[in-house]
Amino acid sequence: MTYDLVVIGSGPGGYVCAIRAAQLGMKVAVVEKRETFGGTCLNIGCIPSKALLHASELFEEAGHTFEKMGIRLGAPKLDLPGMMKFKDEGVDGNVKGIAFLFKKNKIDAFQGTGKILAPGQVEVRAAEAKAQTIETKAIVIATGSDVARLNGIDIDEKRIVSSTGALSLDKVPQRLLVVGAGVIGLELGSVWRRLGSQVLVVEFLDRILPGIDAEVGKQFQRLLERQGMTFKLSSKLAAVDTSGKKLKAKIEPVSGGAAEMVEADVVLVAIGRVPCTEGLGLEAAGVKRDNRGRVVVDRHFASSVPGIYAIGDVIAGPMLAHKAEDEGVAVAEILAGQAGHVNYDVIPNVVYTFPEIASVGKSEEELKEAGIAYRAGKFPFSANGRAKVNLTPEGFVKILADAGTDRVLGVHIVGADAGNMIAEAAVAMEFGASSEDIARTCHAHPTLSEAVKEAALAVDKRSIHM
Ligand SMILES: Cc1cc2nc3c(=O)[nH]c(=O)nc-3n(C[C@H](O)[C@H](O)[C@H](O)COP(=O)(O)OP(=O)(O)OC[C@H]3O[C@@H](n4cnc5c(N)ncnc54)[C@H](O)[C@@H]3O)c2cc1C
Repeated sequence: MTYDLVVIGSGPGGYVCAIRAAQLGMKVAVVEKRETFGGTCLNIGCIPSKALLHASELFEEAGHTFEKMGIRLGAPKLDLPGMMKFKDEGVDGNVKGIAFLFKKNKIDAFQGTGKILAPGQVEVRAAEAKAQTIETKAIVIATGSDVARLNGIDIDEKRIVSSTGALSLDKVPQRLLVVGAGVIGLELGSVWRRLGSQVLVVEFLDRILPGIDAEVGKQFQRLLERQGMTFKLSSKLAAVDTSGKKLKAKIEPVSGGAAEMVEADVVLVAIGRVPCTEGLGLEAAGVKRDNRGRVVVDRHFASSVPGIYAIGDVIAGPMLAHKAEDEGVAVAEILAGQAGHVNYDVIPNVVYTFPEIASVGKSEEELKEAGIAYRAGKFPFSANGRAKVNLTPEGFVKILADAGTDRVLGVHIVGADAGNMIAEAAVAMEFGASSEDIARTCHAHPTLSEAVKEAALAVDKRSIHM
């Protein structure tokens, strides 16, 4: 039989694309080389990291804030195998959910490594079975990304780990050296700091979280430092000596100068991710890639070869699960003759630490660079009743609105539950809201989201509680 669509990869891009295509009446197959579905996100990314962030945050709260609220439990004790089991069960439930959705939508799943033989032909090779070829009208590449490595530093996933190993350490490292102050490094660094590690973060650039609004980044670094994390900015890991019981990491200033040796029990390399295209047969098929190895696509996710499309981490854009999902829906709808599209101006970005960081739209630096005149309204959580009573007064909401039209161009939040609050800003921006629209929308009291309304009022210098 010939499928309408074969999707290679079952991450959030691939599985969502397959489901949407099946809903639209297509006969769909998915090829996945991992034993379980759900890709990086469900198996070794978003889901397990959030399970550990949630559990470790409660562990820290139990030790620090419970007593202030009149709850006496004694010092909490860590049961690391128990916490890992909790995380693994969460992953298991999620990946089984995808298998259920495939069945429900009559999607055929092929377990094995997919390779494009030609447009319309995908070879699937499972470890021991003979390769088989599936015929299809269209192919969507959704093979995602893999850990970026540092030259000369071997990741053994025991002492020198990537995010994957850092999600499954069997004991709390006394000293954890995190290389890279991006989202993954700061999230996993936070997990292990809460569980008892001394965490040092080494970052090549002179700031943490590159790409995030600079004011947010600065305040966030101060908050992390107050929690006990330390930072070495404008520095790089040059080598790790693994011969002794302790690792000895050589850290060099980026601008040159004397190196410093730092001892660690575990080194986490979190310097980014690279597109996963090896063995896919792209070169032979004539599928073009850019200078970073990503599949080049047009506005309709079509590659340079007719009938072959690509979405998610394997193409340009933010490496985020929800971006991959939206592209999956869009390409399925385009294949069905509809007008699927993704609004790249409104893709929220969240860092799930404590406090959380969430943003959508443009940063102040981006607006300045583009020469766009804007007005900024800011409101601190220390003036929000609910944040005060919850003992979470850290952070602020900042809204950036066009100086002429008042249209909201960017929203940035540092604070507890920022990741949930940013959804309001995304909806407002998707509908082209002005800051006045947000300011005149009734927000429930007492909620943290009242700070969003107050920041909108502050754009026009009329916030009430400041
Ligand atoms: C620790 C960590 C935490 C993260 N947290 C978040 C978060 O909180 N929020 C967020 O939005 N994003 C997060 N991400 C990023 C997110 O996981 C990715 O952006 C997302 O998974 C990309 O989806 P995708 O479908 O493009 O690819 P992937 O999820 O990488 O899936 C690709 C799939 O393709 C399969 N595959 C590859 N090659 C082949 C082949 N030749 N044949 C068959 N199958 C193949 C792979 O096995 C994989 O299952 C996190 C990532 C990590 C590592």
